[in-house]
Amino acid sequence: MTADLLIGADGAWSRVRPLLSDAFPEYVGITYFELHVTDAPATVPASAALVGTGSLFALSDNKSIGGHGGRALHLGAMLRVPEDRLDTRGVDWSDTATTRAALLAEFADWAPEPTDLIRHCDDEITPRRIHALATGHAWPRTPGVTLVGDAAHLMSPFAGEGANAAMLDAAELALALVEHGADTAAALSHYEARMFPRFRRGGPGVRRRARAVLRRRLTAGHGRVLRRGGRLTALAVLPMLSI
Ligand SMILES: Cc1cc2nc3c(=O)[nH]c(=O)nc-3n(C[C@H](O)[C@H](O)[C@H](O)COP(=O)(O)OP(=O)(O)OC[C@H]3O[C@@H](n4cnc5c(N)ncnc54)[C@H](O)[C@@H]3O)c2cc1C
Repeated sequence: MTADLLIGADGAWSRVRPLLSDAFPEYVGITYFELHVTDAPATVPASAALVGTGSLFALSDNKSIGGHGGRALHLGAMLRVPEDRLDTRGVDWSDTATTRAALLAEFADWAPEPTDLIRHCDDEITPRRIHALATGHAWPRTPGVTLVGDAAHLMSPFAGEGANAAMLDAAELALALVEHGADTAAALSHYEARMFPRFRRGGPGVRRRARAVLRRRLTAGHGRVLRRGGRLTALAVLPMLSI
């Protein structure tokens, strides 16, 4: 098949990306268990109140429970563990009951409000190793090929921006193609010149800003520190965050 223009919109493991760069997604050190609670106010009222309608960030001991609030909760339980932990832990991750028990054991000393989200989540828990491309991934202008979304800038999901960034890429690329008509080279240059700088930011600056936001939220009374046995087990931030 031949085409004038090839747009790689094929996600994390893009088959188009190797035409442009040698970059390959790397494990970010975190394994994520995707959880859902379909009707949270009925199933887990105290936990639903904890999450609210915004985002939850419960963080402690290199572990986290977090995600999006509302009636149906979309959450993740996260562990900072080696990349092979899913293979070496001796758990059948395809079995929900076993997965749930193994996950609860990881959070055994946490307060019940966040862990009830694991205890009572829907019967589908999906483990994922989280991968990302290096911050600032870019490529030299290559005739007739470009990337959008995760194919271009796969990032960890913690900022909750990947899908939004993919849609912005697509809109900007479409506009550039319309504006430049038959001059595809000019359209791709225009698109990439706007898209690349968005993904140069990151690293320690972002981590510092995220910590500062969490601290500000707590001191403004927007968060709760959950303790169990006198020990801090989780920090939960209730309203929508904007970092
Ligand atoms: C656990 C988790 C939580 C997340 N939470 C959020 C969040 O809260 N907010 C947010 O904004 N983002 C979030 N993201 C990120 C978001 O899901 C992605 O950034 C987004 O889906 C990227 O869109 P995309 O179209 O680039 O890639 P994808 O959604 O991966 O789509 C790529 C598509 O290409 C198809 N494809 C791949 N290879 C081929 C091929 N060879 N031929 C044909 N088709 C192919 C795939 O099947 C897929 O349908 C999260 C990601 C994860 C993993």
